[in-house]
Amino acid sequence: MSGSRITFLMYHELELAGRKLCQSEPGYVRYILPIETFRRQMEWIQQSGFLGLSVGEALRFPLKPRVCITFDDGCETDLIAAAPVLREFGFHATFYLTAGFLGTPGYLSDEQVRELDAQGFEIGCHSMTHAYLSDLAEVELQREIAGAKIRIEQIVGHAVEHFSCPGGRYDQRTLAMARHAGFKTVANSEFHANDSSTGNYELGRVAMLRDLSITEFSAICHGRGLWKKRVQMQTRRGAQRLLGNRNYDRLRALLLKESSE
Ligand SMILES: [Zn+2]
Repeated sequence: MSGSRITFLMYHELELAGRKLCQSEPGYVRYILPIETFRRQMEWIQQSGFLGLSVGEALRFPLKPRVCITFDDGCETDLIAAAPVLREFGFHATFYLTAGFLGTPGYLSDEQVRELDAQGFEIGCHSMTHAYLSDLAEVELQREIAGAKIRIEQIVGHAVEHFSCPGGRYDQRTLAMARHAGFKTVANSEFHANDSSTGNYELGRVAMLRDLSITEFSAICHGRGLWKKRVQMQTRRGAQRLLGNRNYDRLRALLLKESSE
């Protein structure tokens, strides 16, 4: 990284009226923004004089106020909902695709990936099957990182240089494998803005939650108050380590289900 601090925003599928989401459980839906909310956020970015950049641009851009806009998973709404809004505001973004999901219901087809690429958006990689990488043996890790890179490069016909970790899970082996496979950056879901002291393989991102107010959004873009969320996050990480990823997910699903009832 170079220059001043920059927040990387992490989006997922967007919600369009009358369109079924890829998944319906509360743990998934809390990361899904209605298209109108997304548009209001882009409006805020523009009116506040920020630029909206892709990861590649964020790494080399000068000192102007800016945010980096990223999407995980490779849902079809990347092309049919997010891209038109981004283009309207003149923003760039990086779309991290789950290679093995492409062409399945609700996700981008190979043709749609090429369309997104042709529109000038940056295409990144979000693993092969969306497995939690810190749980995997070496050979599986190879497939999830290097295999997925090759698959997406075959679709777009050029190098894919940026990777993001499914579920934010990663360890040093993950980073070593990503570097070895030829990725130039790895983004995670650690709640911090990035600056010149951040390594290119440990770029933090802030998850955009469905119920985020515009005041909270503006604070995030300015990089304010992120430490509070970081403390919550570290507590959650501790629980994940203690319980293991699978048990943690079961417990979380149970708690979310109860709180939505
Ligand atoms: Zn994901």
